[in-house]
Amino acid sequence: MTTDLPHKRIPIDEARARVIAAVRLLDTEAVALAELAGRTVGVAVVAPHSLPTHANSAMDGYAVRAGSVGPWPISAQILAGDNPAPLVSGSAAAIATGGVLPDGADAVVPIERVDVVADLVTATEPIASGDFVRHVGADVQAGDIVLQPGTRLTPLATSAVAGLGLTSVACIRRPRVVVLTTGDELVPPGTLLQRGQIHESNSVLVGATLAAAGCEIVRIDNVADTAEATRAAFTAALTDADLVVSTGGVSVGPRDHVKPALLELGVSELFWRIATQPGQPVWCGSAPDGTLVAGLPGNPLSCLVGLHLLLIPAVRAMLGDTPEPVTVRAELVSPIAQLPGRLRAIPMLLEADRLEPLGAGASHQLSRAARANALALIPTGAGELPAGTIVDAVPLT
Ligand code: AMP
Ligand code: MG
Repeated sequence: MTTDLPHKRIPIDEARARVIAAVRLLDTEAVALAELAGRTVGVAVVAPHSLPTHANSAMDGYAVRAGSVGPWPISAQILAGDNPAPLVSGSAAAIATGGVLPDGADAVVPIERVDVVADLVTATEPIASGDFVRHVGADVQAGDIVLQPGTRLTPLATSAVAGLGLTSVACIRRPRVVVLTTGDELVPPGTLLQRGQIHESNSVLVGATLAAAGCEIVRIDNVADTAEATRAAFTAALTDADLVVSTGGVSVGPRDHVKPALLELGVSELFWRIATQPGQPVWCGSAPDGTLVAGLPGNPLSCLVGLHLLLIPAVRAMLGDTPEPVTVRAELVSPIAQLPGRLRAIPMLLEADRLEPLGAGASHQLSRAARANALALIPTGAGELPAGTIVDAVPLT
C-alpha cells in the first residue's frame, strides 16, 4: 500500500488540522452550580443585573457628604446587609465594608483617616466625592457577557456564576469517549506476569488524560487481537461515543486489525501516520455520523504524543475552545539530536523554564517518563540543538 510509505507521514500540524476540521461541536445541557467546575460554557453567561447592585463602602469608616472634613456627629451604624435610612444632613454614619451607602452620602472616610473626639468625627485629609465607594456596576453591568462560550469553568469562574446569583449554566455536553485497548499480551495490573505478558497501562493514560480534558469516559474495553473481536468492539464503540480511541494494533503486523476493521465499518480515513518520533503510527478517521476515531499506537509514549498533540485539541474543538495545543517556551538543559523530517516529542521535567530530559527517548520507557510534566517539541532538522536552546513544550496535565 502506498499509504504505508514513510514519505506519506504528514506533519503534525496538518494532521491536527484535519482532525479539527472533522470535529463537530457538541450540543449543550443545563449544568447545576455544584457540578460546574471543569465543564465548558456553551451559551454565554450574561449578568442578569449589575454588580454591585447598590453603592457600598469599600472600607470600615464613616459615610459622609464630601465637601468638608467635618466635624460630624455620628447619626447611624450601618452594617453589611442593612438597608439604611438616608443620611441625616450634616452627620456621618459609621459604616462597615460592604455596607450600603445611605442616600445623601457620596463618600466614605476610612476609620484610619478620622479623629473622633467627643462623638464628633473629623477627617484628617480632604475628601472627594466617590472616595472609598464601590459604585453600582463597577464589577459588571447588567447584560454584560461574563463568560464566553468555550470557556472552561475553573473554580474561580464557577464562583463568579454563583456571584451573579445563577444556579446553572448551559454547558457543552461532555464528549463521550470509549477506549479500546488491543493486545493479547496485555493483562491487568495486579496479575502475575507470565513470560511475554505486560501489564496494561494505556487505558489509564488515555482515560485520565481525556477525563482531565473534560470528557466522560463511557467505558474501557480490552479487545482480543482478532479481526472479529476488533470489528465487534468498534461497532459497539461507534454507537456509544463521540470519540473512540484505540491503542495498539494499528500497524501493519499480522495481529494489527484496527485499520481494516474501521475501513470495513465505513469510517473514512483522515490520515495515516504522522511525522513525529515517537507516535508515528496513528490512524484517524471520521465515521458517517461524525464520530471521531483515533487508532493510537500501542507503545505508551507514542500514545502520549497522539493524545496531547491530536486528541486534546480535538476535544477542545468539540467543546468550542481554541483547539491549538497550549505550549510554553523553555530551555533545554542538555543537547538534543534533531530528526530530519520528524518532530521529536520527548517527555521531560519542566522546572523554572528549564527542560530536563529523563532518558525516556524510546517509546516503551514509561517508567523513565513517569516524572515528566511536559512534552518537549524538538523541531525537525539534521543537527543537534545545543543546551540552552529555547523550544516549545506542551505541559502534561
Ligand atoms: P502494537 O502497537 O499493538 O504493536 O503495540 C506496540 C507495543 O505497545 C507492544 O510492545 C505492546 O505490548 C505495547 N502495548 C500495546 N498496548 C498496550 C497497553 N494497552 N498498555 C501497555 N502497553 C501496550
Ligand atoms: Mg498489538
